[in-house]
Amino acid sequence: MTQTAAQHVNTLLASYPDFPLPGILFRDLNPVFADAVAFRAIIDELAEKHRGQFDAVAGIEARGFLLAAGIGYAAQCAVLAVRKGGKLPGTVLTEEYDLEYGSARLELEVGQLPAGSRVLIVDDVLATGGTVAATARLVERAGYVTVGVGVVLELADLDGRSRVGAVPVHTIVAV
Ligand code: AMP
Repeated sequence: MTQTAAQHVNTLLASYPDFPLPGILFRDLNPVFADAVAFRAIIDELAEKHRGQFDAVAGIEARGFLLAAGIGYAAQCAVLAVRKGGKLPGTVLTEEYDLEYGSARLELEVGQLPAGSRVLIVDDVLATGGTVAATARLVERAGYVTVGVGVVLELADLDGRSRVGAVPVHTIVAV
């Protein structure tokens, strides 16, 4: 019988206590990406959930890039790379946000899409939601509209959804 994307994730997800810092349970989705059938299943589900609703998919560095490339190909749409600070040339928009320890910076190049383009934001894990919320601010400031968020895994206890606001969030598995 064909497995669903969620079944693949539940089977293949690896968890590492105290990585990269004590107290963090790191959720490793690389075994999902490394399984050809599972990878295709998660790409298909994320693309299908918002089918016809987006003109571009924005992937957040680094694991979001893997998802965005696959979804962009599957949906035949544009792909945006949202990068960590200091890596993009030209005119960039910057958003800083707090992490559990310290702060982080994400950037997006301006002028890549027509104004008003509809953007689907994707990443591997939704934790506190700060990363996706910062990305949504970049998308809005660039003149586009965030129409949805797609993640493979949601850490439900951290309630990242509440930071994302009114935008629909689709998660393949919540733990
Ligand atoms: P947050 O901004 O707290 O929602 O964190 C989301 C970003 O950090 C994503 O890009 C994830 O890849 C990464 N991340 C946060 N917590 C974890 C975790 N427990 N396991 C794996 N990745 C995580």
